[in-house]
Amino acid sequence: MKALWKEIAGRGLALKETPIPRVGDDEALIKVKVASICGTDLHIYVWNDWAKGRIKPPIIAGHEFAGTVVEVGENVRRVKKGDFVSAETHIYCGHCFQCLIGHPEICENLKILGVDINGAFAEYVAVPEKVLWVNSPTIKEEFASIQEPLGNAVDTVLAEDIAGKTVLLTGAGPIGLLGVGVARAFGATKIIVSDLSDYRLDIAKKMGADVVVNAKSVDVKKIVLDETHGHGVDVGLEFSGSAHALNDLLKSVRPGGRVSLLGLFDNSVSIDFNDDVIFKKIRIYGITGRRIFETWNIVSNLLNSGRLDVSPVITHKFPLEEFGKGMELMETQMSGKVLLIP
Ligand code: NAD
Ligand code: ZN
Repeated sequence: MKALWKEIAGRGLALKETPIPRVGDDEALIKVKVASICGTDLHIYVWNDWAKGRIKPPIIAGHEFAGTVVEVGENVRRVKKGDFVSAETHIYCGHCFQCLIGHPEICENLKILGVDINGAFAEYVAVPEKVLWVNSPTIKEEFASIQEPLGNAVDTVLAEDIAGKTVLLTGAGPIGLLGVGVARAFGATKIIVSDLSDYRLDIAKKMGADVVVNAKSVDVKKIVLDETHGHGVDVGLEFSGSAHALNDLLKSVRPGGRVSLLGLFDNSVSIDFNDDVIFKKIRIYGITGRRIFETWNIVSNLLNSGRLDVSPVITHKFPLEEFGKGMELMETQMSGKVLLIP
């Protein structure tokens, strides 16, 4: 089969002819129909500091995908040949303290598909049954391939109720853009989105943003106050990983409001805890991964019902061989979600 390997500690990935993986007793072998490039894959491709510390080449990258089960291991019961599946990429152990108390997303022995074990940028991938999610056969393959990041967005937006709320969402990257659609689908009343890219802000409008602001040229907090009768927004959603955006967000949320943080910062950040958090009595949620499988159920329902149309976020599609074009678009941020077809 064709597979996209991280072969060496350095920039790039290599497409190589590779044996089809052998399916373990607890695994299913999946023929990958569509894979989607995540920011993590880009980090592995460019070989940033995180990748240097975490990735041990050689490994097949990729973890967001949809495909068909072609073979199952001896102990597999829940999925069968022919099922159309995607996967939770957080491979939890199932027996640590966090798993036992119902939080596998923060498992103490977490392994990640395409990071710790061979991933989905290939014609076939072997995945443990316990992390497989069986999709409705009627859902579009392209949409099914981005349910994992859509789950990030769902958890960030729905950490508390969003219906009837005014929202500032910082960072209109692929996941933030999905977050705009989720906030809209669940009944947010005014959605203000900030980014540095007009290209991405245009997609945010298509996803349901009411007001878009380019943080390069305007004072985000001033716009938010103008748009909310001087009160500030009820909810702040951070999807950028920018310290600047985090400060915009904390200053734009009204006293008593809620903030959810998904974006990952390159370094530790400085915020004014007294004035922007404590005296404002706001609630801050750190979000990691998704609730397994509660979030997947919500994501499936959103896509199956047609309540959420994610098509504006999917901007490019390439054959696996042309992965370089996809990575370049992601690197220059001139894309939403980029899909690869093995
Ligand atoms: P991305 O890097 O493609 O998007 C980030 C966006 O933020 C970009 O469009 C950029 O222009 C914008 N931005 C930068 N500075 C800004 C500022 N000052 N104000 C407003 N916008 C600004 O990322 P993505 O793939 O959409 O992922 C979003 C974030 O979520 C990333 O930080 C990623 O690392 C993180 N993430 C976290 C988890 C988790 O489990 N917590 C999972 C996946 C991704
Ligand atoms: Zn565990």
